Amino acid sequence: MEEGEKKRIALVTGAGRGLGAAIAEKLAQQSIHVVCISRSQNCEKIAQEITVAGGMAEAMAVDVSDGKAVELACGKLLEKHGTIDILVNNAGITRDALLMRMGEEDWDDVIRTNLNSCFYWTKHLLRGMVQNRWGRIVNISSVVGKIGNFGQANYAAAKAGIIGFTKSVAKEVASRGICANVVAPGFIESDMTFGLPEKVIEEIKKNVPMRRMGVPKDIANAVNFLCSEEAQYITGTILTVDGGMTM
Ligand code: NAP
Repeated sequence: MEEGEKKRIALVTGAGRGLGAAIAEKLAQQSIHVVCISRSQNCEKIAQEITVAGGMAEAMAVDVSDGKAVELACGKLLEKHGTIDILVNNAGITRDALLMRMGEEDWDDVIRTNLNSCFYWTKHLLRGMVQNRWGRIVNISSVVGKIGNFGQANYAAAKAGIIGFTKSVAKEVASRGICANVVAPGFIESDMTFGLPEKVIEEIKKNVPMRRMGVPKDIANAVNFLCSEEAQYITGTILTVDGGMTM
């Protein structure tokens, strides 16, 4: 960015902990003002930590699965900032069960939180990017969206949906200087994977050529690159960050 140019504004969902918090911190280190979104007040803590470290951030607790709530939040943010230049749809949940035992609520919750949320935020924030002829959208999918997984039909469907959604958006706005890409993490250390039994973790590691789980920073670095000026000719792609697990 040239001297005197307007600072970029990024919005990161699920920035209360885990991957989203690492992404928010990494973007803030590039002098980007980061709007941290989470369901609870966790985002306040992360925004505060960024500010204490000398970065720029603010927090907003929004349920990303609620279309009206997202619309309202976008209205407030656009009034305050004019445009959001960078959108990272990262918020996600799991409600695992084998399909025959999966309740409709487990299906709906996962689709609404992981997939519908991408539609809501992107729809409301895209216009400003189009007008500015610049934008970056990164949607966090999962390797599970590419290869499926036992007990995760709902999650895999949402994560595969994110890929189709992102590629379609990428085609619609490529001529307007907007890049839309997917990051597909493998198994990363966070609250989402914390509860996995030791036996399962050992099995996962056996299938990862790098023989370890990823850390949130591995994902933050990939997202940061896709949000940068340098990534201006990359759109509609899936950047897999999985230690070689699905190569
Ligand atoms: P995490 O530690 O469980 O954190 C999830 C974040 O999403 C939290 O900040 C949470 O808010 C927020 N969130 C959940 N539901 C929300 C809602 N309805 N409205 C607003 N915010 C909501 O998860 P993570 O491991 O960092 O995962 C981040 C993303 O990466 C997810 O999309 C996940 O599917 C994907 N991913 C993770 C892995 C992995 O191995 N960890 C692998 C592949 C993909 P609160 O803090 O307020 O609870």
